[in-house]
Amino acid sequence: MSTALSETQTTIGYPQLRLYIDGEWTAGSSGRTEPVINPATEEVLGHVPLADAADLDRALAAAARGWRVWRDTPVLRRSAILHRAADLMRERAAEIGRAMTLEQGKPLSESTGEAQRAAALLDWDTEEGRRAYGRIIPTGPGESLRVVREGIGPVAAFTPWNFPAGGPNRKIAAALAAGCSIVLKASEEVPATAVLLARCYEDAGLPAGVLNLVFGVPAEVSEHLIASPTIRFVAFTGSVPVGKLLAARAGSFMKPSIMELGGHAPVIVCDDVDPVAAARACVRAKFANAGQVCTSPSRFFVHESLHDRFVEAFVSATEAVTVGNGLDEGVTMGPMANARRRQAVDRLVADAREAGAQVVTGGHALDGPGFFYAPTVLIDVPAEAALLEEEPFGPIAPILPYGDLDEAMDRANSLPYGLAAYGFTHRADRAEFLVDRFEAGILSINHAGGSVPVAPSGGFKESGYGREGGSEGLDGYLTTKRVSQKLT
Ligand code: NAD
Repeated sequence: MSTALSETQTTIGYPQLRLYIDGEWTAGSSGRTEPVINPATEEVLGHVPLADAADLDRALAAAARGWRVWRDTPVLRRSAILHRAADLMRERAAEIGRAMTLEQGKPLSESTGEAQRAAALLDWDTEEGRRAYGRIIPTGPGESLRVVREGIGPVAAFTPWNFPAGGPNRKIAAALAAGCSIVLKASEEVPATAVLLARCYEDAGLPAGVLNLVFGVPAEVSEHLIASPTIRFVAFTGSVPVGKLLAARAGSFMKPSIMELGGHAPVIVCDDVDPVAAARACVRAKFANAGQVCTSPSRFFVHESLHDRFVEAFVSATEAVTVGNGLDEGVTMGPMANARRRQAVDRLVADAREAGAQVVTGGHALDGPGFFYAPTVLIDVPAEAALLEEEPFGPIAPILPYGDLDEAMDRANSLPYGLAAYGFTHRADRAEFLVDRFEAGILSINHAGGSVPVAPSGGFKESGYGREGGSEGLDGYLTTKRVSQKLT
C-alpha cells in the first residue's frame, strides 16, 4: 500500500525538491508538482515542481547572462570551482547515494559509486577544459593565423532516470568545463540526486545562472528550450525515439546536438574460453542497475559447444543475485525504477514464451510492494521474439547458441543499435575479428567493462552520435574560430 507524505514533508534523507534558476532555489511559478515514488516501496518520497514557460524563460535569461560571466572567468578560476564541486560530490557521496537509492532503487553501493564516478568525470572534464587549445598556423612576417576553440554557448540538456548522478553530471561537467552555461532538465522520476549535485556546484562557488536545473513536462520543456535563440547546443540521453525527435527539432533550428541513446548489446562467447568464468562476468554486468543500463549486455551468442555449460553457470550466478530494497545490506539488485519498465519487461518475457522460448529462471514480477522483477534467463528464444529486437532495459538475458562466428557477428550487428558489444576469446585472431567487425562505439573483450572518464562513450547507428568522456568529451560543447590578423 502506498502512503503519501504531504507536499511539504519529505522522507528522512530525501531533500526538498526545487528548481534552481539564476542561483536561486524556487518552487516555480505554476505551483504544479508531480509525486516522486520510491520504486522499492511505492511510497511517495516528495513532490517535484514542474516549470512553466515563465520559469523556463527565466532560466534561459539566466543562462544567457551566466554564459557571459563564465566565459569571462579565467580558466584557472573556473577549474578551481569545478574541482571544488567534485570534492563536494565525493564528500557527500553517502548523502547523494542514499537519495539516489530512495528514488531510483539501485543498491546503495552502486549509488554511492555512481556519485564518486561523477566526481571523477568532473575532474577529468575540468582538466580537458584547461587543455582545450587552439593552434597557431605558420604564416609570413607581420601576420598571424590562429584557430581558437571556445565554448559554444548556453546548452539545453535532458537526462533520464537510470543514472541519476552520472547522467546529469556528464552534461553539466562537459558544458561547464568548455566554458558554456547550461539549462538542464533532469528526470522528474529521480530529481533529488540532480538537486544534490546542483548544490555541490552552488556551494563550490559557481556564479548564478551558469547552471540552471529545471523539471517539467518533458515535451513542453524540450520544445520551449530548443526553440529559444539563447540555446546553442542540445544534449540528450534517453531512448532512440525521443532522441530522434529532439535531434530533428534541434536540426530544424540549425543547432548541433549530442545524442546518447539506447542499445541492445550483443555478447559473443567463442569456443576457446572457460564458459563458467565468461558466464560469471556476464551476470555481474547484466544485473547491474537491474539491467537498466544502455550498455547492458542483452543478447548472449554462445558457441554451441559451450552453450549448456554457459547456461548452467549463468543460471547459477543469476540465482545468487539478491533482490531487495537497495538500502538493505547484501542486496545486489534493486527494483525496476518504475512500474512502466516492469510492465515492459513482463511483456517481452510473455511474448518470448508465446513464441516458444523457455524460461530457465525468473520470468515473473515479485510480490509487492515495489516494482521488483526476478532476474531472468531464457533459452531457445526464436528469432521472431520481440526481445531480440527491442531494447529490454531490464533484468532479462536471452542465451542463443551459434555454430559459425561470422553468422553470430551478422546477427550481433543486425539491429539498428550500435552502442556496446562484448566478446570473449583467448585467440588473438578472433579478438582482432571481434574488434574489427562489431558495429558499436564501446567494446569490451574478455570482461564487461564500465565507463571510465579517460575514454569516450557513445554510439554508432541509431544509438546516437557524439562522445562523452575522454579527450573527445568536450568536442560538441566547443566551437572553432579561424582568426587571421595583420600585425601592422
Ligand atoms: P522514454 O522514451 O519515455 O523517456 C526516456 C527519457 O526521455 C526520460 O527521461 C523522459 O523524461 C525523456 N523524454 C521523453 N520525452 C521527451 C521529450 N519530448 N523531450 C525531452 N525529454 C523527453 O522512455 P522511458 O520509459 O523513460 O525509458 C525507457 C526507454 O528509454 C528504455 O527502453 C531505453 O531505451 C531508454 N533509455 C535509455 C537511456 C540511456 O541511457 N540511453 C536511459 C533511460 C532510458
